[in-house]
Amino acid sequence: GLLIHKSLSLKKEKIIMSFLLESLILHKTVKKHYLSLAKGAECQVTYIWIDYSGENLQCKTRTLNKEPTGIRDIPEWSASWMDGNLIEVTLVPVRMFRDPFTLDPDKLVLCEVLDSNRVPMGSNQRSQCAKVMEEVREFEPWFGMEQEYILFGLDGRPFGWAPQGSPFTRVNCAVGINQVYGRDICICHYKACLYAGVKICGTNAESLPSQWEFQVGPCEGTEMGDHLWTARYILHRVCEDFGVVASLDVKPIEDKLDTSGCHINFSTKEMRSEGGLQYIEEAIRRLSRRHSQHLRVYDPHGGADNMSRLTSQSSSTSSFHVFSTATSCRNVSVRIPGHVSRRGCGYFEDRRPAANCDPYNVMRTLVETCLLETCE
Ligand code: ADP
Ligand code: MN
Ligand code: MN
Ligand code: MN
Ligand code: MN
Repeated sequence: GLLIHKSLSLKKEKIIMSFLLESLILHKTVKKHYLSLAKGAECQVTYIWIDYSGENLQCKTRTLNKEPTGIRDIPEWSASWMDGNLIEVTLVPVRMFRDPFTLDPDKLVLCEVLDSNRVPMGSNQRSQCAKVMEEVREFEPWFGMEQEYILFGLDGRPFGWAPQGSPFTRVNCAVGINQVYGRDICICHYKACLYAGVKICGTNAESLPSQWEFQVGPCEGTEMGDHLWTARYILHRVCEDFGVVASLDVKPIEDKLDTSGCHINFSTKEMRSEGGLQYIEEAIRRLSRRHSQHLRVYDPHGGADNMSRLTSQSSSTSSFHVFSTATSCRNVSVRIPGHVSRRGCGYFEDRRPAANCDPYNVMRTLVETCLLETCE
């Protein structure tokens, strides 16, 4: 039972799974025919937004008469919002991408969610982030994030694992069918992100056989969150096609030490320029004084997720309770990469954010601590 992903109900599992498997096998080749049908100048635009939980995505699609040339050509829309009561919310388009599923001229558009008084809904952390990024614009803040995830099969087990679990040991960046499961997902997601215009900059196999990572960046300011959320959307859609589930849960497998994080890399213009290391060190000093404040916003549950992840039990995680930092070392809160230390400038890495973090919260808090807090 321990290996079953918690989002899949044990009782309903058999019925749901046989239904899903059947529809997958039946329709994938048939679908190609319909996608190849010619159409007029119409453009299908898929609106994407973060739901009330701040953790999951939703989407819906509409037809526009012609291809939008930019975000201003895409009208606002509405959606129903389930958060206790069913209310109506406004979707405000903020960033446009190409649709890698139905192809040009179709679009994906990431949206902010506002209530009927045009106030951002609680799970819409983007507008607050954008305000802070505007304040620090002259610093030219760059971010890069490393999204880890674990694939689950429709049987609820980590993808490719035997019922008794995986016998294989932890290997990062592994190669070979006995060590990595689901590389197709990683490859197809990478290509789809590049098509869409998402600034994906790399991928690698993670330490569990069905765990993967992709990196996005460097992105300036709010753009980071927009690209990461869109990359997550594309990941879930690619997984639909393959009949697997990508879990961004921090620790979806109870009896394994392995967890998923979302390291954030950060730099300012000064840090990237000659002699930048002193600015990096100053930022890390500031971070060391606000460890607990950061952990409150580094996962969507006020730190509860990271409490089970940051146990210092594995070689790549640090302590939930104590801030630590080092050069070229991976079991710390904040790391200065070896190549940055050698060059004397560049960026640093905050390894604390959880895989299911909201990047807008993480970025905003980093910038507030490193660039805006007045120093005592
Ligand atoms: P790691 O060694 O921690 O696994 P990765 O190669 O997975 O590192 O990820 C490095 C991340 O750093 C990428 O997301 C990349 O975009 C980001 N990055 C690179 N240069 C900068 C920079 N100057 N400022 C901020 N982020 C950067
Ligand atoms: Mn309806
Ligand atoms: Mn990495
Ligand atoms: Mn990693
Ligand atoms: Mn990293």
